[in-house]
Amino acid sequence: MVLRIYNTLTRRKEDFVPLHGNRVSMFVCGITPQDSAHVGHAKTYVAFDVVARYLRHKGYAVFYLQNVTDMEDRIIEKMEKTGRDWKDIVSQYWAEFQEGMAALRCDSVNLYARATDYIPEIVAQIRGLLAKGYAYVAPDGSVYYDTTKYTDWGKLSGQKIEKLLPGARVTPDPNKRTPADFALWKAQKPGEPAWDSPWGKGRPGWHIEDTAISIHHFGPQYDLHGSAVEHVFPHHEAEIAQAEAFTGVTPFVKVWMHTGMLMVGGEEMHKSLGNFWALKDALKVAAPEELRFFLLNAHYRSPIDYTASGLDEARAAYRRLRDGVESLRAAARAGKESGPGDAGLRKATDDANRDFFAAMDDDMNTREAIAGMFALVAAANRALDAGVGRGAAEHALVALGTFDEILAFLPRGGGETGRLLTGLLDFIVQLREDARKRKDFAVSDAIRTNLSAIGVVLEDTKDGVRWKRR
Ligand SMILES: [Zn+2]
Repeated sequence: MVLRIYNTLTRRKEDFVPLHGNRVSMFVCGITPQDSAHVGHAKTYVAFDVVARYLRHKGYAVFYLQNVTDMEDRIIEKMEKTGRDWKDIVSQYWAEFQEGMAALRCDSVNLYARATDYIPEIVAQIRGLLAKGYAYVAPDGSVYYDTTKYTDWGKLSGQKIEKLLPGARVTPDPNKRTPADFALWKAQKPGEPAWDSPWGKGRPGWHIEDTAISIHHFGPQYDLHGSAVEHVFPHHEAEIAQAEAFTGVTPFVKVWMHTGMLMVGGEEMHKSLGNFWALKDALKVAAPEELRFFLLNAHYRSPIDYTASGLDEARAAYRRLRDGVESLRAAARAGKESGPGDAGLRKATDDANRDFFAAMDDDMNTREAIAGMFALVAAANRALDAGVGRGAAEHALVALGTFDEILAFLPRGGGETGRLLTGLLDFIVQLREDARKRKDFAVSDAIRTNLSAIGVVLEDTKDGVRWKRR
């Protein structure tokens, strides 16, 4: 089936066709490591992790590039506030971010590119913009993009450049010719970290690092740029203005994908509102796979309201899925040849295969894809009650395993350690059954109590006693 993606640039769903055969170049705006990453970051990066995973599942060779804004105004503010070195600040929050991403199984990025590793490329791009008359050097040695020279504003956002006037995150600056002009290069102020340039010591502006990094790796045009919706304007308009003025190639990016906002209790998340959820704190309240499930159980373009009750609901739903998968795994291990539930389970598996991929092909609709997984698990539970054989159970598990290569939130059953643990638990449950048969209730009760203490509960089924995670 053809994958369709909603393109912010054309404001409609389009068939996804890469520029160069099977190769997909994908860039997503990265973090500024000057504070803890929050749940809003997690929403965006989980969404694009699934985008990369799904494109790879479809057979595309994806190169997923994410920048790291390791020098920016907010890092300098943090330096001034704390007296710490910028490298020290960046390395602390970068390590924390990496830990959060690993916990959430966001592992599809090929390269994290740090802005300060691309100073020569940034300088070269600014020189090119100056040479073409799209930029000017201010008296203080800063370089600004001349917004009056570029005539194609608003392609992506539908916003006019006037929106960049004071009040819209732009401070009046005597160095600028027009208030909407934005800095490509910021001249050094006392105490600030700085790099050499033809205009004196300074540091790059925020927008230019993305285009310098992406054009360096991908060339003047690439397939897919992702980010959160709040970056459409002005950040991504500025990227387009820089890149298209610099290279003369349009469109700079073929498909722009934007994720909906994360709200907290119906409001935008802000430290000043006291509703800020750092990712590391959210991961103390929810297991990483529960949080990942919660974030994916909505379409990526929809906003999500992060609330305790919403998280509880997601957790309960997640556990139904997880328990269904583990019951199927137990049935596959039990190894009956066949059962009365087989035909129903095979039919449900085929339906789920059709529904899951139809949903993913429809603009990566993870919410509908997950609904397909729930339908399969519900059918599996009915089939398990009737009794299923190993073949039908494995058929369903293969499908669920494939879905999870994309969504990546189910407990991992495979792998050496997983198999070892599963075998050990099965063996312990068998020992308890033997003890019960000999009426050695002291031992059988002790086993049940100890398993319970590590979160494993036992339940009677018509095929005997089974363990499952609480
Ligand atoms: Zn960016």
